[in-house]
Amino acid sequence: MRYARPLQHVIDELSRLPGIGPKSAQRLAFHLLRRNPAEVQALGEAIAALPQTVRRCQECFNYSEADLCPVCADPARDRSVLCLVAEAADLMALERANDYRGLYHVLGGLLSPLHGVGPDDLMIPQLMGRLARLPVEEIIIATPPSVEGDATAEYLRQVLAAAGHTRLTRPALGLPVGAELDYDDQVTLIRALQGRREM
Ligand SMILES: [Zn+2]
Repeated sequence: MRYARPLQHVIDELSRLPGIGPKSAQRLAFHLLRRNPAEVQALGEAIAALPQTVRRCQECFNYSEADLCPVCADPARDRSVLCLVAEAADLMALERANDYRGLYHVLGGLLSPLHGVGPDDLMIPQLMGRLARLPVEEIIIATPPSVEGDATAEYLRQVLAAAGHTRLTRPALGLPVGAELDYDDQVTLIRALQGRREM
């Protein structure tokens, strides 16, 4: 016997999400059936509204409700320092640590020749455009310390140096990233950024 078609549909959609296998998808779907219908409705509406309500910041490509994200819209941020991160989640991790006062640029991934991701697939042309407008003195290349993260950092170092940017730095150690950083991660993150080295 098969599940009722709408239930199977929800299970199929949930199993397409990262980290959710068929068993978790089933468990979640049954949980939704047991919950208060109004809560399930609210969840569905919040998810359905995401593509219309959240967009990319026009400047840094952080997720934002407005054309400019709160960081770019804040006149008190230091416009002489620009921190390059792979994903918006990395930006959020740094913001939560509440130590960095400069601007960001979200690359939208890492270079990966094996997967066909080249410089034009990331926000690198947009980065060069911003650098022509911003009074940037230091660029922090905070891509993760992985094979692709290091290769992307090295590519950026070459391109940025060729464009005349001399103060390029890299965090002293890997930045811990993710949605739920605990206090120790935040301390590590602040140390990594404060101990950044010239590339
Ligand atoms: Zn922004």
